[in-house]
Amino acid sequence: MKLNIKETFCEKLPADPILENSRRQVKSAVFSYVNPKKTKDPKVIHISNEMALELGISEEETQSDFFKNVFTGNKIYPNTKPFAMCYGGHQFGNWAGQLGDGRAINLFEVEHKNKNWKVQLKGAGETPYSRTADGLAVLRSSIREYLCSEAMFYLGVPTTRALSLSLSGDNVLRDILYDGNPAYEKGAIVSRISPSFLRFGNYEIFSARNDVKNLKVLVDYTIKHHFSHLENSSKKTYLKFFNEVSERTLEMIIHWQRVGFVHGVMNTDNMSILGLTIDYGPYGWLEDFDYSWTPNTTDRQHKRYRFGNQPNIGLWNLYKLANALYPLIEEVEPLEAILDQYKIDFQKKSFLMMKSKLGLFEEVKNDLELIQNLEDNLQLVETDMTIFFRNLSNFKGDKIGFEIIKKAFYDVKNISEQVKIQWNIWFKNYADRLQKESLNHQQRKEKMDAVNPKYVLRNYMAQLAIDAANEGDYSLINQLFQLLKKPYDEQPKNEKWFTKRPDWAKHKVGCSMLSCSS
Ligand code: AMP
Ligand code: MG
Repeated sequence: MKLNIKETFCEKLPADPILENSRRQVKSAVFSYVNPKKTKDPKVIHISNEMALELGISEEETQSDFFKNVFTGNKIYPNTKPFAMCYGGHQFGNWAGQLGDGRAINLFEVEHKNKNWKVQLKGAGETPYSRTADGLAVLRSSIREYLCSEAMFYLGVPTTRALSLSLSGDNVLRDILYDGNPAYEKGAIVSRISPSFLRFGNYEIFSARNDVKNLKVLVDYTIKHHFSHLENSSKKTYLKFFNEVSERTLEMIIHWQRVGFVHGVMNTDNMSILGLTIDYGPYGWLEDFDYSWTPNTTDRQHKRYRFGNQPNIGLWNLYKLANALYPLIEEVEPLEAILDQYKIDFQKKSFLMMKSKLGLFEEVKNDLELIQNLEDNLQLVETDMTIFFRNLSNFKGDKIGFEIIKKAFYDVKNISEQVKIQWNIWFKNYADRLQKESLNHQQRKEKMDAVNPKYVLRNYMAQLAIDAANEGDYSLINQLFQLLKKPYDEQPKNEKWFTKRPDWAKHKVGCSMLSCSS
């Protein structure tokens, strides 16, 4: 396996001079050199062949011991120096100081097909940023990250990618429920891939420490390597850079709202500077359409990161980034103008996104009302978001709408007459509105089916794969991986995954709620 290694990050950015792997505050540096931990008995259990090809690794090469050893941290690729990044972050609304890659270790950069990729291991051992934790990851959270990041990619949502999922062969102690009953679980390592793993928190940490010199070095690096269409190093450029980060962040969140993805931990250390979905922890997929839903048990009380609040939190996080960049810009108004624009764009883009889910492309008065009424209806009784929108494209205006979306109701037998009437009213209005479209039913259906996925990684599906894997059966991981590569296609053989969450999963840990323990 020969990779086209092209290091830019470590070459261009300031390194921590201390090489010892001890936990500490790291000043004036973007990263610290640190080697992954050797593991007892590494075993690769799944590979994204498509991602491998993007890196210039053939399918045959992925089968080698060398591949296994490199992507589990047991062998360092020749002439490369692994490192962990230093970043801070606002967690649940509060500044948390230095965080950093506590259990992520960056291996190297690969250039292939004119793209530059950063390769990183998650769960490969402690770093100077591990604080009180062990730097490891367990199988359940690694399966969730691995499957979901690739699934998001195929859904067309900006995201970091995954290359491989491996067992370390070591056991890891975790208290899943935070109830004082820790137990050993299988350790695992995911190799993650992205053009950059920089987060808002990378900029915040320098700003918080009044280290404007290094803040500028990092921002200039980011612009040069990731926003190269902007000319470098002027206040104007920094504003354009912030504007673009703001637009990309919004774009990503609109996609989340479209597919029903709830990130769960939108702390600023989990916000990618490239607007990619990053750090798949206690995320979840909306089943019942409920703006107040959050999968994260740690956030159960305030529900800061609930589905309906994600766009606001994106904006809140951008305020923090604006503060961090302020020393390079020194003007409040233009930063505020960008943040105000986010609010305007959110209204506009969210409206267009919802229209596309309904198959409405003409501009017609009262569409906003039609969408608001739909959102109200969706919250009348427990209604499955994915099934609802997918089946909506079967509505031709003649049939009774209620029959078409019946499959989306969790308790269809007990739906009151009142609820049925409200749905019938809505479908009547929808049918009238469809008259004003120029596309015919088939054309509209194709467009709707391209934005309303048929298959998403429902929380119970990931849990089934986890339960099987814990018993040594990895076949379901592969089955789901293959299924989710074509989320918008009809897959008659896979119709069983186009169903509501089963009853047993409603209150099961891992299926509807998750802790940060991973
Ligand atoms: P998260 O909420 O998972 O994004 O993590 C927040 C911070 O905690 C990051 O700095 C992580 O690197 C760190 N962290 C999470 N889990 C571990 C772990 N098992 N070992 C070391 N650091 C961790
Ligand atoms: Mg994180």
